[in-house]
Amino acid sequence: MNDLLKEKLVSVLKKSAADLVRFGSADRMRDPAVKKLFPEAKSVICVAFRQLRGTRRGIEEGTVYYQYTTSVETLEEVMIPGALLRGCSVLEEAGFEALPQRRFQLVMQEEEGTNFEVAYDEIYRGRKSETILDFEKCAVDCGLGEIGLSGSVLTDDFGPNQRWGFILTDAEFSPDEIVKPHLCDSCGECAKACPGHALGPDGKRNVWQCAAYYKGANRSKNPFMPPNAFADDPECLKIISGEADLSPERAREIIDQIRFYPPIKHAMVASMCGRACDTACYVHLEEKGVLKRKFNTPFRKRPVWTLPLK
Ligand code: SF4
Ligand code: SF4
Repeated sequence: MNDLLKEKLVSVLKKSAADLVRFGSADRMRDPAVKKLFPEAKSVICVAFRQLRGTRRGIEEGTVYYQYTTSVETLEEVMIPGALLRGCSVLEEAGFEALPQRRFQLVMQEEEGTNFEVAYDEIYRGRKSETILDFEKCAVDCGLGEIGLSGSVLTDDFGPNQRWGFILTDAEFSPDEIVKPHLCDSCGECAKACPGHALGPDGKRNVWQCAAYYKGANRSKNPFMPPNAFADDPECLKIISGEADLSPERAREIIDQIRFYPPIKHAMVASMCGRACDTACYVHLEEKGVLKRKFNTPFRKRPVWTLPLK
C-alpha cells in the first residue's frame, strides 16, 4: 500500500526537521471537516515538530522572554508550512493530490471565542466554516498522542511540547495505531501552574482569562509590569494576583492595558506565562521518567520563582 512512497515521504519530512510523522486513514477521522476539505482524501498525515526545551529556559528563569514566542511563531509560520509543502510535492510527483493544513491562528468559528496566542482584535470570528480542522482531535486520530487534562496533546517523545500540521491526500497508506491514553494521570499540575487560574480542575480552559494571563496580567510572574499598572482599577490586587474572574469584556479591557513587552509578528502575542500549564506538565512527566527523549539534566533546576505583588 504505497510503502515506498511512504518511506520517501517520511524521509523528506524528516529532512525538513519534522520529528514525528503519523498516518491516519481518512475514514477514521472523527472531524467531518476532513471530508469537507477533501472528499476523496484517503489519508491524513500528521507532521509534528518539537518545541525546543531551551526556548522555555528564559521564562523558567525569569530572564528573556522572546525565545519562547519566536520559536512558536517560526514553527507555525515558517517550518511547518515549508515542510508540508515539501511533503505535498513528493505526493503530487507520484500522481496523488495533497492538501497542506496548518493551524488557522486567526480564524475562529465561535463568536465569543479567542485564541490566546494572538491579538484578540486580529481574529476573524464567527466563520461558520465546516472546514476548520480540529487540530487536537485529528492529531489523536492520526496516532500522534493522547489529549491530557489540560487539553494539550501529549506524546511519549515530547510530552506537551510539539506543534504540528497535516497533509490530506488521496494516496492510501497503512495507518499508525491510535495511542491508548497512558501519560496523563490527572495530577492537576497544569491547572495549578496557571498564573491566572484559567484552567479548571477538570481542565476546562476559560479562554479569555487565559488570554489575559498568557500576556502577563499576573505581576508575580511578569518582571516587566510597572509599579503603577492597574493602580486605578478597584480590582487591582485581584487582577495582578491572578484571582480576578474575567468576563470576555473585562479580559479585553485588561489585555489592552498590558503593553509592557512588544508583541512578535503576525499578530502573535509575546507570552509571559510561556504556557506554564504545559511546562508544569512536562516537568511532571519528566520527573516520572515516562518521556522517551532524555536530557542530561532535569528541566526544573530551581524552585519556581515569584515576584512580590507590591
Ligand atoms: S499536568 Fe498532569 S493532569 Fe495536566 S495534562 Fe499533564 S499529566 Fe495530565
Ligand atoms: S498557563 Fe498560560 S497558557 Fe496555560 S492556561 Fe494559564 S494563562 Fe493559559
